[in-house]
Amino acid sequence: MTTKAQSYLTHFRNIGIAAHIDAGKTTTTERILYYTGRTHNIGEVHDGAATMDWMEQERERGITITAAATTAKWTRSGTEQEYVVNIIDTPGHVDFTIEVERSMRVLDGAVAVFDSSQGVEPQSETVWRQADRYGVPRIAFSNKMDKTGASFELVLSDIRERLGAIPAPIQYPMGQESEFKGIIDIVRQRAYTYTNDLGTEIQEHDVPAEYADKVTEMRAALIEAAAEVDEDLMMMYLEGEEPSVEQLVAALRKGTIEKKIFPVLCGSALKNKGVQLLLDAVVDYLPSPLEVPAIKGKIEDTEDTIEFPADPEGKLAALAFKIMADPYVGRLTFVRIYSGTLQSGSYVYNASKEKRERVGRLLKMHANSREEVTELKAGELGAVIGLKDAGTGNTLIGDGDDKVLLESIDVPEPVIKL
Ligand code: GDP
Repeated sequence: MTTKAQSYLTHFRNIGIAAHIDAGKTTTTERILYYTGRTHNIGEVHDGAATMDWMEQERERGITITAAATTAKWTRSGTEQEYVVNIIDTPGHVDFTIEVERSMRVLDGAVAVFDSSQGVEPQSETVWRQADRYGVPRIAFSNKMDKTGASFELVLSDIRERLGAIPAPIQYPMGQESEFKGIIDIVRQRAYTYTNDLGTEIQEHDVPAEYADKVTEMRAALIEAAAEVDEDLMMMYLEGEEPSVEQLVAALRKGTIEKKIFPVLCGSALKNKGVQLLLDAVVDYLPSPLEVPAIKGKIEDTEDTIEFPADPEGKLAALAFKIMADPYVGRLTFVRIYSGTLQSGSYVYNASKEKRERVGRLLKMHANSREEVTELKAGELGAVIGLKDAGTGNTLIGDGDDKVLLESIDVPEPVIKL
C-alpha cells in the first residue's frame, strides 16, 4: 500500500540511457534535456529557429549532461500530469563496464538506444546482459531512422534473435532513411508527422490508409504479447474482445516492469523526431521507485537481511555512486536515496568506511542549472557537498542506526587507459 508520504513517488522515473558507442546516446540525452527543459508538448507548433538557437547556445555553454544524475521534468502529452525524470549517466564504453554496473544499481528503468542501420551491436549486447543481471526494466529506441540502411525490422529481429527478448513494437515508422516522415503509435492508433526539417512541428492525425494493414497486424501481435502477462486481457483476447487503450497500456506496463516485454520505439534523435513520444513512453511503461523491489541490506551484527522500501519516513539508506571533482565547490558525491530523508547540515554514518560524516550542502542537478535543496527524499538523486570520506559504492545510513551495508558493487574504479 502506498502511504500519503510516498505518493509523490508515483510520478518519479529514475532512468538510464544505455547504448553502444555511436548509437546516439549523447544526441538522445541532449534532446531529452532540451524537451524537458521546456514546457512544449506534442501538438504545439514551435518556432524551429528558436529551438535550434537554444541548442547551439547550450552546446557552447556545455549542457550538464556530464552530471552523474540530472533531474528533469516532463508533462505527459495530452495530460497535465507532471513527472520528475532523473537521468542517470550510464557510461557506454566497454572499458567502463564496472561503472555501467554501478549505475545500473541506482536506476529503476532504462532506455536502450540502438542504431537502426546497425541493429544490435556486440557492445549493446553487453550492456543488455548487465541490465538483465540487475533486473532493470527496459524500453528500446530504434534511433537513426533517417540514416541510409535504417531498418526498424532489423532492430526488432535482432532484439528477438541476438538478445533473446520479446520486442513489443509500440510504434511503427512512416518511411525509412531519407523518407522517414513520422511515427505511428500502434497502441493508440494515431500518427505523428513532422512537418518541418527540424522536427519541431508535429501534426497528430489518423493512421494513413497505406499503413492500416501493418498497424492491424502489429496491434494484434502487441495484444497477444500483452495477454501473456495479463489474465484479464487474456480472457478478452480469447473472447475476441478489443481491449481499451488504457487496458493495453496497463498490461504492457506490467509486462515491461516484469521484464517479459520490451516496448520498442523509433525515431531520429538527430532530426528531433520521436523524442517527445519517447518521454511519454518512459512515463507510461517504466516503473516508479514504488514498483521495483526494495533494496536490501545486510545488518552486520546479526547477518540478517533488511529491506528498505522507498519511503521518505523510513530509516535513511543511501548509496554513493559517483564522486566528481567540481571546480567551484570541490568534491561532489552523487547519491541515491532509497529510504528516509537526507538533510543538509546533518550527520550520517558511512557504514562502508565506518565513519561518521557531516553532510554539507545538497544539490539537485538540472540540465543548465543547479538547485540547492535542504533535503533529498527517498527515490531522489542528487549531489552532496562536504562528504570527505565517502567513495563510490559506499552505504550511508542514519547516525546511530544499526550498521547495514546495502547490496552494491564494491569494486575499485576502473583504470582508464589513455
Ligand atoms: P553516442 O556515442 O552513443 O553518445 O552517440 P552520439 O550521440 O555522439 O552520436 C554519434 C554520431 O551519430 C554523431 O555523429 C551523431 O550526429 C550521429 N547521430 C545521432 N543520432 C542520429 C540520428 O538520429 N540520425 C543520424 N543520421 N545520425 C545520428
